[in-house]
Amino acid sequence: MSETVTRFAPSPTGYIHVGNLRTALMNYLIARKAGGTFILRIDDTDPERSKEEYVDGIKQDLAWLGLHWDRVERQSERVEQYHAAADELRANGRFYEAFETPVELDLKRKKQLNMGKPPVYDRAALKLSDAEKDALRAERGAGVWRFKLDQERIEWVDGILGDISIDAASVSDPVLIRGDGQILYTLASVVDDTEMGVTHVVRGSDHVTNTATQIQIMRALGHDHPSFAHHSLLTGPQGEALSKRLGVLALRDLREQGIQPFALLSLMARLGSSDTVDLRTDMAALIDGFDINRFGAAPTKFDVADLFPLTGRYLQTLTAEDVADEIRAAGVPDALAAPFWKAVRENVETLKELGGWWAMFRDGAEPVIEEDDQAFVAQAMALLPDMPFDETTWSNWTATVKEATGRKGRGLFRPLRLALTGLENGPEMGAVMPLLQVVKAKG
Ligand code: GLU
Repeated sequence: MSETVTRFAPSPTGYIHVGNLRTALMNYLIARKAGGTFILRIDDTDPERSKEEYVDGIKQDLAWLGLHWDRVERQSERVEQYHAAADELRANGRFYEAFETPVELDLKRKKQLNMGKPPVYDRAALKLSDAEKDALRAERGAGVWRFKLDQERIEWVDGILGDISIDAASVSDPVLIRGDGQILYTLASVVDDTEMGVTHVVRGSDHVTNTATQIQIMRALGHDHPSFAHHSLLTGPQGEALSKRLGVLALRDLREQGIQPFALLSLMARLGSSDTVDLRTDMAALIDGFDINRFGAAPTKFDVADLFPLTGRYLQTLTAEDVADEIRAAGVPDALAAPFWKAVRENVETLKELGGWWAMFRDGAEPVIEEDDQAFVAQAMALLPDMPFDETTWSNWTATVKEATGRKGRGLFRPLRLALTGLENGPEMGAVMPLLQVVKAKG
């Protein structure tokens, strides 16, 4: 058996978002599970739209997630290989030049649709004589190069979609080289996948038709095709298209909002599969349980809100040392870092909330005192010992207040918490007391 090789092949025309993160992660997990190779392939054949800034951004995002690649390949550096493949297709009679303008193609499509026919390129260019081609070339410049599909059914067993059969006659001969000589993704991808020994390709189901044509191109070049799996596209929580909201779902925006890598990885490695989403805190656990065949074809609902509780749960696994930088950035003095983390870690979903908690402890909360509790709280405050408080302050103080007032249980604790923190719920008060720098309720 050959070594498992997968690739993540983003076009550097934008940052990674939750949709293509899924593609990256699935390919990564397949490679790692098999002890194979994971290639980061930068699909930068389009010089106008590709930006170095996005190449860097994609690498940063993958590194942040811990999805380490074994090597990077860039399509812009492999143009010679693509031309060699194009020559081979020409020699095999599978490549032809066509000269229609976009407007003409559009007109043809409209006519076909009006006649109730599928809008498939009519191969008019195949009928051109050499003289006609020369004339068109002189008039319009070089034509585009189309791959001549064999008009038969193209079949494969998809790792997610199952048996797929596509009638090549319903697909236009794909343009592989543009009039200006630019190699297009379809050809570049085929050449790379075969030359780099890619064994498994996982990508979005928007690529199913591409896969059909790529299988034929691979065969025309004398190669077998890799296994393909097409994952469903993500939708919003109500099934709405996610694309409209992709702006806010870029990985860097999620990172900015305080989402932790393992929250994102845990969700995306299982969402849309028959496995339940559970927080995993190491890559080995994610790799272990991963099986592409357990994913379903139906659109997968994604709710960004699910990432917050997962992040909160992940944070609970961390120590004060793990988050020392963030605690310091929140303004907490080093001496209080450990007790501060102990107090708040079960009450934050992201580290962004640390600053708010520390501000409250440092400046004192606006007390909330209900009508019926005014006298009780005043009496309790008179019994509150002087600062600094320690871990015993809360239990000693509430015991004294209980004795003095006869209150107990919720009637005792709730008004005191509200008076000191302004909140009905929150961190354990025993842990909060040593952090309080001011008690406003004391007046
Ligand atoms: N650059 C292509 C894309 O981002 C890659 C698709 C593929 O995986 O082949 O859609």
